[in-house]
Amino acid sequence: MAQIIDGKALSAQKVEALKALMPQLEEKYGRRPCLCVIMVGDNPASQVYVNNKVKKAAYVGMESSLVRLPEETTQEELLDRIEALNADPLTDGILVQLPLPKHIDEAKVIDAISCEKDVDGFHQSNVGALWIGKKCSVPCTPKGIIELIKSTGVQIQGRNAVVVGRSNIVGKPVAKLLLDCNATVTIAHSRTADLGAVTRQADILVVAVGKAGVVTGDMIKPGAVVIDVGMNRNAEGKLCGDVDFASASEVAGWITPVPGGVGPMTIGMLMENTVECFIARQK
Ligand code: NAP
Repeated sequence: MAQIIDGKALSAQKVEALKALMPQLEEKYGRRPCLCVIMVGDNPASQVYVNNKVKKAAYVGMESSLVRLPEETTQEELLDRIEALNADPLTDGILVQLPLPKHIDEAKVIDAISCEKDVDGFHQSNVGALWIGKKCSVPCTPKGIIELIKSTGVQIQGRNAVVVGRSNIVGKPVAKLLLDCNATVTIAHSRTADLGAVTRQADILVVAVGKAGVVTGDMIKPGAVVIDVGMNRNAEGKLCGDVDFASASEVAGWITPVPGGVGPMTIGMLMENTVECFIARQK
């Protein structure tokens, strides 16, 4: 039976460490880090996410603000808000909650955020820096996934890592981070011919697809570390991952639950990225 990787507990440790750091930062720099979250429209899932982010920032003891803009906000209006925040010396991190309404070009908006304030690490300069191994804001979910894997004590170097999914926000960056840890990395996707044959090679398996049950126990190498990034609703409306937890936990050595795995780590990493942007901006 697999051991559970407790993302909630690991994230809480990170958050407590950041909270303890706040008075020192204030003493050294005269103020605390400030995160600004922008949300356009009223997507219910996004509302939950932005509220959680702002609440967590308050818990850590940072300054934070939530800019809520109506669905009909134009791209120009949104870009103007971002420009004002880029110019604001007291704002250290800017996060635009995705998805944006269809009439707004997400890529344009992301690249409008000053890359020094890009706490999500989605700006093309940060993406490029990640891929050539330069200092950058590392996207929160992939960063949290690496911490979760490291928390098991399982060596990453020299192991086979398989990432299922190749999105810009999870699959590709986590593959690069695993490569940086000297894993031998394979990326699988919707056109992979025999997904099970690929995933069964994995000592470390990261699944970021967005479809419940896409990976089952018979697709997992015995003893593997399994990180389930998926956030789906099952027929009863309950949150579930991409991995069939019941069968997978019979075979894996370690596994993240959903909820309580990757999700809490993502928010912990957002807090860490905000602090890192703040410190970098003081220099
Ligand atoms: P995405 O942009 O939709 O990408 C999904 C990827 O899965 C694509 O690369 C796609 O392949 C691949 N795929 C689709 N069906 C597949 C199949 N049957 N077999 C193998 N690969 C398949 O999704 P995302 O943004 O990366 O998110 C993935 C999941 O993670 C979602 O459930 C999302 O909600 C969740 N998520 C969670 C967090 C968190 O903090 N917990 C953060 C981000 C995302 P193609 O490229 O070939 O289409």
